[in-house]
Amino acid sequence: MSSKSRGFLAAACLGFLGNAAAADRHLFEAVEPHMGTLVRIKLYADGALQAKGAFRAAFDRIAQLDDALSDYKPESELNRICRTAVARPVEAGAELFRVLEASQKLAAETDGAFDVTLGPVIRLWRQARITNRLPDSALLREAAGRCGYRKLHLDPAKRTVMLDQAGMQLDAGGIAKGYAADAALSILEQLGIRSALVAASGDLAFGDPPPGQRGWRIGVDSIDRPEAAFNRVLELSNAAVSTSGDREQHLDIDGARYSHIIDPITAMGLSSPITVTVIARHGIDADGFATAVSVLGPERGIAFIEKQAGASALVVTDRVVESARWPAPMSHARAPRAKSH
Ligand code: ADP
Ligand code: MG
Repeated sequence: MSSKSRGFLAAACLGFLGNAAAADRHLFEAVEPHMGTLVRIKLYADGALQAKGAFRAAFDRIAQLDDALSDYKPESELNRICRTAVARPVEAGAELFRVLEASQKLAAETDGAFDVTLGPVIRLWRQARITNRLPDSALLREAAGRCGYRKLHLDPAKRTVMLDQAGMQLDAGGIAKGYAADAALSILEQLGIRSALVAASGDLAFGDPPPGQRGWRIGVDSIDRPEAAFNRVLELSNAAVSTSGDREQHLDIDGARYSHIIDPITAMGLSSPITVTVIARHGIDADGFATAVSVLGPERGIAFIEKQAGASALVVTDRVVESARWPAPMSHARAPRAKSH
């Protein structure tokens, strides 16, 4: 089993490459632990005071989202709703609803490959990584019986959530970090900081480029594969990129490696090595898509990505497959945005 520290090292394969000094603004960088990982923010600000206030606001925003979306915290809004919304609609906060809505849309578009209701199965695999033993198959079957995105009902008009049966458990782990990166970036923008990036381990969201540059330069490396085809440099702005893979969290048993990403059809951790990198306009999409494509595999996964406006993907198994638009959108034109207030 890999440790968290090794995990972070591996996730650092989405590395930052150097940035030239800004014209009149200066580059500031801060790291804090949130959502079970380290979140790194880089931004250009007029001075240390402005940067400090911006970091605080952005990290606080992420902590607040974690309080709503975490499945680890018993009193998170997500966990409370799992207890209270059984067979009756319960109103959800706007952010939890947004994440569940995006999850359900993705589930419908991927035939359930992405499934935010996999909590019961995910918990058994989490336990398995601690005990270093495969989950008991009878327990897995029972847990799988409490999963299924069709048993989760959302009413956008009333913003309510309803679950079909008791013992269901939502788990937003495949999409929440990308959304948190988006949210932190918006806060920075509201504070007048547009040149910034937020990296929640393998889920990154980018604002405007560093002053005088075309984009933020990001290396997508494959630790095991030094060949050039597996190692790319991206230049991104007003976009997001996420990687999903089995490097960070997995279980090794009898020569097989089971990923923390679950195939909802078998309730098993993925056991064929796959690393997926997705670029999209927003982190919520890049994150969810990367998890979904991991389950779908290269062929169906790339076919799914080709249908998503503004998204592209790189899938690495024993070979490398790129979607037609990869690595678009490399560097967005400055998009019109809501006025800050
Ligand atoms: P990471 O957490 O390493 O960034 P992902 O974004 O791929 O990786 O998310 C993996 C997490 O998503 C798992 O730890 C689990 O919480 C959740 N998950 C696992 N399988 C699925 C799935 N098929 N659909 C939706 N979420 C999943
Ligand atoms: Mg994901």
